[in-house]
Amino acid sequence: MSSSAYAAAPESARPEIRNEYGLFIGGTWCAPQSGRYDVTIDPAREEPIARIAYGGSDDVARAVRSARKAYERWWAPMKPATRAKYLFRIGRAITERSREIAVLESIDGGKPIREARDFDVPTAAAHFFYYAGWADKLEWVLRAGRRPQPLGVCGAIVPWNFPLLMAAWKIAPALACGNTVVLKPAETTPMTALLLAEIARDADLPPGVLNVVTGDGATGAALVAHPGLDKVAFTGSTEVGREIARALAGRETRLTLELGGKAAHILFADAPLDQAIEGVVRGIYFNQGHVCCAGSRLLVEESIFDEIVARLQQRIDRLRLGDPLDKNTDIGAINSRSQLERIDELVRSGVDQGATLMQQRCDLPERGYFYRASFFTNVQSAHRIAREEIFGPVLAVMTFRTPEEAIEKANDTPYGLSAGVWTERGSTNMAVAQRLTAGVVWCNTFNRFDPASPFGGFRESGFGREGGVHGLSEYLA
Ligand code: NAP
Ligand code: MG
Repeated sequence: MSSSAYAAAPESARPEIRNEYGLFIGGTWCAPQSGRYDVTIDPAREEPIARIAYGGSDDVARAVRSARKAYERWWAPMKPATRAKYLFRIGRAITERSREIAVLESIDGGKPIREARDFDVPTAAAHFFYYAGWADKLEWVLRAGRRPQPLGVCGAIVPWNFPLLMAAWKIAPALACGNTVVLKPAETTPMTALLLAEIARDADLPPGVLNVVTGDGATGAALVAHPGLDKVAFTGSTEVGREIARALAGRETRLTLELGGKAAHILFADAPLDQAIEGVVRGIYFNQGHVCCAGSRLLVEESIFDEIVARLQQRIDRLRLGDPLDKNTDIGAINSRSQLERIDELVRSGVDQGATLMQQRCDLPERGYFYRASFFTNVQSAHRIAREEIFGPVLAVMTFRTPEEAIEKANDTPYGLSAGVWTERGSTNMAVAQRLTAGVVWCNTFNRFDPASPFGGFRESGFGREGGVHGLSEYLA
């Protein structure tokens, strides 16, 4: 059933794709109670990839039971150094199978193969290596004088924009601390989570330590509703994050929420402009803008506005939009038809509200969900395109005259996930960065990630941190 993209991939990198995938519970593949299977598609070709089991609440309950058993019998009592061995094995297997994982991630989600290959897969492996190193050091560093305890069974719910990486962000620290996991991938991108299950089994991870229950939003809701969870780690939209927080109110279940964003770049006239343009382009068009920390607002110092707009137009005309499996592709496919419709709707609102739309001049493939790299000028702070997360390749460009005004505009958002500051002066960088309400502020760079560095938001971007020691402590009592 797999898409024709599969045939186009080099043979050495072709992942084995089965026609049908069950749920991964207790170390084995099993059929869903309901017998229902849904199809995951390749958004660049609008072709089916495989049939995926639909997990209902009975299946979720089975997975939580299996995770509980594994927690009590094997995983929590295990010597931390032995737990680390499994994590190292998983990290190594991700590295060894990186080419096929990258192809699978690209086919299932639409992201350019270059990004999957150079970012998603190695960064996911790096998280397993990093947290493996922590497993036997927790008591010395985190809770001096007190033995830290794992929480128990963790439910991990991840979105479709970085399917493997978001799973790794949760599974690696959870397992390193002695917890077990039930993972719910997004409906449109289950493939690499299922491959990760296979990798875990091949690594001899004890059965039930990692379970993968595929399905849709209702599957995620069933997982959150299950009373047997000790922690829920969620990455996704602010709207669903709120629902989850409501569902958990009054329960002792721990919660971390990584939600949406509307990050601003502040671009001062003295900035190294070549570097800044590249950073701004990467900041918004990376992964078609399906990035929670995407730099989707650009605040430009007024004196260089015309120059920046001209250079942005020139630069986006040179981006290559098309087949995600082509190594030269910069802009791949939009993840789903509904996401494409949402982007289109928000862009129309921008035009209707009086902003000026500039787009990459290129042809679109005949099939598949594609959207041209776009940016708006003449944007007012009240416009929807300046306030709402578009989660697509669309940038809103605005101006400022003083640092004070830039800071005020950058913070004028309900979100608080990330921000970028571009200036030659270190003192301006530090002074401005300190006053931005954002979990991460990048200076003269953007969208940089390292497993040792914490990531997370303020306000409607959520709470709790992933990555680094901070991310580890979210999985310890
Ligand atoms: P979403 O609709 O919130 O979905 C996220 C995950 O939650 C998916 O697995 C989804 O399942 C599941 N889900 C849906 N409804 C649920 C419910 N009622 N209870 C429990 N789980 C439920 O978000 P998305 O559209 O996939 O992703 C885009 C959003 O994620 C953006 O807003 C983006 O900013 C945010 N994001 C944030 C970060 C971060 O680190 N802060 C990183 C990446 C993305 P189905 O997909 O199967 O419906
Ligand atoms: Mg898909």
